[in-house]
Amino acid sequence: IIPNSMEGRDIAYQMHPNVNLRKYEKTGGVVIESGDGIYVFDNNGKRYIEGLAGLWSVAVGFGEKRLVEVARAQMEKLPYYHTFAYKTHGPSIELAEMLIQMAPVPMSKVHFTSSGSEANDLACKMVWYRSNALGNKDKKKVIGRIKGYHGVTIAAGSITGLPRNHESFDLPLDRMVHTSCPSYVHFGQENESEADFTTRMLTDLEDLIIREGPETVAAFWGEPVMGAGGVLMPPEGYWEGVQKILRKYDILLVVDEVICGFGRTGNMFACQTYGIEPDVLILSKQISSSYMPLSAILMNDRFYQPIADESDRIGVFGHGFTASGHPVATAVGLENLKIIQERDLVGNAARLEEQFLSRLAELAKHPVAHSSRGVGLLGALEIKPFDDAKAGDAALTVTAALEKEGVIARAVGEAICFCPPLIITSEQIDDMFDALERALDAVAAARA
Ligand code: PLP
Repeated sequence: IIPNSMEGRDIAYQMHPNVNLRKYEKTGGVVIESGDGIYVFDNNGKRYIEGLAGLWSVAVGFGEKRLVEVARAQMEKLPYYHTFAYKTHGPSIELAEMLIQMAPVPMSKVHFTSSGSEANDLACKMVWYRSNALGNKDKKKVIGRIKGYHGVTIAAGSITGLPRNHESFDLPLDRMVHTSCPSYVHFGQENESEADFTTRMLTDLEDLIIREGPETVAAFWGEPVMGAGGVLMPPEGYWEGVQKILRKYDILLVVDEVICGFGRTGNMFACQTYGIEPDVLILSKQISSSYMPLSAILMNDRFYQPIADESDRIGVFGHGFTASGHPVATAVGLENLKIIQERDLVGNAARLEEQFLSRLAELAKHPVAHSSRGVGLLGALEIKPFDDAKAGDAALTVTAALEKEGVIARAVGEAICFCPPLIITSEQIDDMFDALERALDAVAAARA
């Protein structure tokens, strides 16, 4: 790597997230320079299909001029203002109103933050604040799930159930406990039916609540489909059963639709796909197609009212960020959601689901593949582990071959995850999976 090149300067000056830092110092990264539609281009002019929509987020594709124009206009009119101290502004009001109107269940208020981690972290603080407001000072524990992902800040990272986000960070916090990961393909036992697996998962959850003491458990956190854990599907009847248990023990349900929200599963929200009725709904990523950092916490009345009472007692709701409801971010979010609605991108995901999933299922018959899964335009191909390598090596080998073929996807364990922009066409899905087939062939040939 030439020291004065972009790659060399990157290694010299930038510490990257989510990498092996020592390895990065040697290999560097691919410099992505521009984007257009479902494609991004590196600094050598090579084109890639962004099979993960960036980080599961660029719904409207790269280079959407309407978002550029709205951001420019808002920058000129009011580039920054806050929502503290009895001040507010148009873009945040309009987006909050739109979100309340779109919400999958009746919601009362929206609070804006800038990232998924911040939204989950604050929602957790609000759960504690609310317990104090109700005089339930011991009802503070939060149940997350093994392989669940809710971000990396201290509370959100604690609710996350992935060892890499805990190890050496002294996480999770004591108040966070984790229940079993409901992925039937990974954790179903031999001769266990999916229905029996669901029953076992629900028993695990109820046992955990009883062990911890129901009077100490405030909330349960879950993604409708686990994303960063590897596109892990809820088994049949899971969400219905979870909600029954939570109601029985008066435990709040916080649903994290940071990946699933805004059309990904073929409905506007995955809560509609799986019949989930959250008290709190966490949204980010596709809310602004990630053109601007933005996230939102939607809460129902039962959640909001005690918090408002407590702020009245104390004199202030003592939380807020400089960028809470940032006018450029909320203006871009508003326009982005209008585009999603006007172009019926949710309908596009629903219409293309069958092709997307059946092509993945076909590829699962390839000699190096194991199985496939997914919903809407969110899917994964599980690769057979190499018998001579560490877990995860097979999927990493395939994603490297896939990148040579001009498609970026994400390896998680032995799964290759796909979450393309919602604007993708039928032909582009074929292009993406034709490239995957060539990559699988190349890996099979290299190991023959
Ligand atoms: N929640 C879910 C379901 C996510 O997938 C992510 C990020 O991938 C987050 C929360 C954290 O979001 P952020 O990276 O914006 O902090």
